[in-house]
Amino acid sequence: MGTIGTKIVGTDVKELIELFNKALADEWLAYYQYWVGAKVLKGPMRKAVEAELIEHANEELKHAEMLAERITILGGTPLLSPKDWMEKTNCGYDAPTDPSVKKILEQNIKGEQCAIMTYKKILDKLKGSDDQISFNMIRKIMEDEVEHEEDLQALEEDMNMMK
Ligand code: FE
Ligand code: FE
Ligand code: MG
Repeated sequence: MGTIGTKIVGTDVKELIELFNKALADEWLAYYQYWVGAKVLKGPMRKAVEAELIEHANEELKHAEMLAERITILGGTPLLSPKDWMEKTNCGYDAPTDPSVKKILEQNIKGEQCAIMTYKKILDKLKGSDDQISFNMIRKIMEDEVEHEEDLQALEEDMNMMK
């Protein structure tokens, strides 16, 4: 880690690293939930929903990448084992045991809403700090999560109009 790069953070770096590791756990679980959901999906609008789930999976993976990189720059270590994901997660994991499009959309919307709330809390914390780099990163991730919720709710709305 760079000495000055860490010093300008001006906030409790340890606490920040812990918050980012918890978010990292969420991102990996979200990635897998979308990825495996896209594999098992069944029902109306399957192709359209599958495409969106795959796109979101890739974006969650990108979020994990951003968080891990920031954790490293701050002098921390990204979670090293998948077993840590279930321990540290804020939003948990919803296994797509019911593969219907309706249920999978529901589960992932719930996940996105939790993600938005989680990042909102982190963002509020960073507002008062000098760490504008972390602030901008979390703001960017939150922007994606807001878009994810909107994408999934739009698909849900379309699906409900088919009845
Ligand atoms: Fe994400
Ligand atoms: Fe998301
Ligand atoms: Mg999308």
